[in-house]
Amino acid sequence: MSENNQTTNFIHDIIDADLASGKRTEVVTRFPPEPNGYLHIGHAKAIYLDFGTAEKYNGRCHLRFDDTNPEAEDEEYVQAIREDIKWLGYDWGEHLYWASNYFDTMYEYAIRLINKGKAYVCELTKDEFKEYRSIPTEPGKEPPGRSRSIEENLDLFERMKKGEFEDGAYVLRARIDMASPNLHMRDPAIYRIKKATHHNTGDKWCIYPMYDFAHCIEDSIEGITYSMCTLEFEVHRPLYDWILEELEIFHSRQYEFSKLNLTYIVLSKRRLLQLVNEGLVDGWDDPRMPTLCGMRRRGFTPEAIKKLCATVGCTKYESISEIELFESIVREDLNENSLRAMGVMDPIKVVIENYPEDLTEEFEVPNHPQKEELGNRKVPFSRELWIERTDYMDDAPNKFRGFTQGREVRLRGAYLAVCNEVIKDADGNVTELRCTYDPESKGGSAPDGRKVKSTIHWVSAKHAVDAEVRLYERLYTVENPLGDKEKDFKDFLNPDSLKTITAKLEPMLAHVAPGTRFQFERVGYFCADLDHTPERPLFNRTLTLRGTKNDA
Ligand code: ATP
Ligand code: MG
Repeated sequence: MSENNQTTNFIHDIIDADLASGKRTEVVTRFPPEPNGYLHIGHAKAIYLDFGTAEKYNGRCHLRFDDTNPEAEDEEYVQAIREDIKWLGYDWGEHLYWASNYFDTMYEYAIRLINKGKAYVCELTKDEFKEYRSIPTEPGKEPPGRSRSIEENLDLFERMKKGEFEDGAYVLRARIDMASPNLHMRDPAIYRIKKATHHNTGDKWCIYPMYDFAHCIEDSIEGITYSMCTLEFEVHRPLYDWILEELEIFHSRQYEFSKLNLTYIVLSKRRLLQLVNEGLVDGWDDPRMPTLCGMRRRGFTPEAIKKLCATVGCTKYESISEIELFESIVREDLNENSLRAMGVMDPIKVVIENYPEDLTEEFEVPNHPQKEELGNRKVPFSRELWIERTDYMDDAPNKFRGFTQGREVRLRGAYLAVCNEVIKDADGNVTELRCTYDPESKGGSAPDGRKVKSTIHWVSAKHAVDAEVRLYERLYTVENPLGDKEKDFKDFLNPDSLKTITAKLEPMLAHVAPGTRFQFERVGYFCADLDHTPERPLFNRTLTLRGTKNDA
C-alpha cells in the first residue's frame, strides 16, 4: 500500500468529484495544531490526511499554528510540532502561518458583521446566556443585546477592544437564530475579552476571536479548499458556512472524519500533560508516551505510523483500533528494515573448554538475513561467551532450541558446540555451562554436513558491552483506561511498564548513533536511546519479537 493510496477515504472521493466537475481546481489543505502540547499519534492521522491528501493531488498543505488562545501556548511546543511533522516526512515549504497574524482582519470582519446587523454585543454572563439559549428541543429567548442599534454595538465593541471592560463583561455574538435546533447556531459568541499577553501580538489585543469564528476565516484567507477536522466539529459546520457566507469571502469547506483511537492508549493533551507534570512518566518523550517524540525515542518508525493511518483509512465511523494492529505493522516494518545484532538480556556464562585461552576470532555475519546490500559485520568470538538463560534447559524436549546436556547447538555464525556439564548455585540456578566446540565447524556448519537444528545467539564475554536496556510494556493495564467513570485513567497505569536491566551486547553496539534501530536476534526490536553514548550504552526495547499479552 503506497502512502498516497489510502484504503478508504471518502474525502478523496469528494475531491475526485469536485475536480472532475470543475467545482474546485486545486487542493489546498492545512494542519492547524494548537501549540499547547506535543503531537500524539492521533495528530499523526490528521497530519497524514492533510499533508498526504495535498501530496496525492499535487496541491499544498499549510502548517498553521492555531494560536488564538493567548494563554496556553509555548515556544517549546511550537518547535516540537515542527520537528515531529518533519520526522513524519512532510514539509510545508513556505506555507507556515499563524492564526494570530489574522487578528486585524478578523476584527474588521467582526465589524462587517455588526454593520450588517449580524453581530451584537451581549452583556449576559456565560451562565445567563445558557438560560436564554435553552435546550435543543425548545426555542431560546432573545438576549437583551440583540435589539441594540448598530451604532451602539460598534461603540461597545470598540470599547471592548480598548480595554474599558473586564474579562467576561461583554462578548460579541453572531446574530443567527435563537430557535435553531442546533445550539451552535443560537447566537454563538465570536469575540471575548481576555486581558492576556499573547506570544505574538503582545498586549495589542485584549479581545480574542473564538475558535469557530477564527478557524473558517483563517481557512478562507489562506484559500484552503478542503479543511479536514474530526467529527466533533460536524455540528459546528453550519456556523462555519454561515460566517463565510455572511462575510462574502472565499468559501472553504469543512469535512469531518473520525478520530484515531487505539486500545491501551490515552490521547488527550490535557491528560498527557498530567502524566508529565505528576512525574508519572519521564517527560513528553518518554518512550511509553503516545506522543510522536515518545514513539520516535521508542524506535517506532514514521513509515509504520503512516501505514497505520493508511490502514485505518478516513471514514466517519467512530472506532477504536486494536493496539495489536499497530504493533504488527511496526514489527513488519522493523523486521524488514532494522539491522541485526546480538544481545543477551539475561546472561549465563558458557566456557568452551577446548578453545584456546587467549584466542579471539572474528566472524563475518550478515546485518540482515534477506538484504545483502546491508552488508556484514565482524563479531568477536572467544573462549567465554554469554548466552541467554532461557537457552539452557535440563532434560529438554526435542523441540527445545538451546543447550541441554549432550546436544549439539549452533552458536550463530561461529561454531557448533555441545554442553557437557552444568554448574548451578546453591539455589539450583544455572551459573555456567561447560562446553566443547568442533573446530572443524567454523562459520557454524560441520564438514560432514550433520544436521544441527538449534541456533542461538551469543556474545563474547571479554568483548561484551554492558548496556542499560529499558524493557517497556504497555502504559496501562486495561484496553480503555477512560472506560470506567468511577475511576481516573491514572488508576490503570501499569506498575511494570518499565523494567531496566543490564544486558550484554556485541561491542559494535556501543558505537551506534542514537536512534539506530536493531533487531536483537531472537530477542526483540531495540533502539539506541537519545542519550546513548559509547561510555554509557542505552537501549530501549521497541517491541518484543512477537506479540505477547503484556507487550508494548
Ligand atoms: P487533544 O484532543 O489530544 O487534546 P486537540 O484536538 O485539542 O488534541 P489540536 O492541536 O487542536 O489538538 O489538533 C490539531 C488537529 O489534530 C485537529 O485538526 C484535530 O482535529 C486533530 N486531531 C486531534 N486528535 C486527533 C485524533 N485522535 N485523530 C485524528 N485527528 C486528531
Ligand atoms: Mg484543541
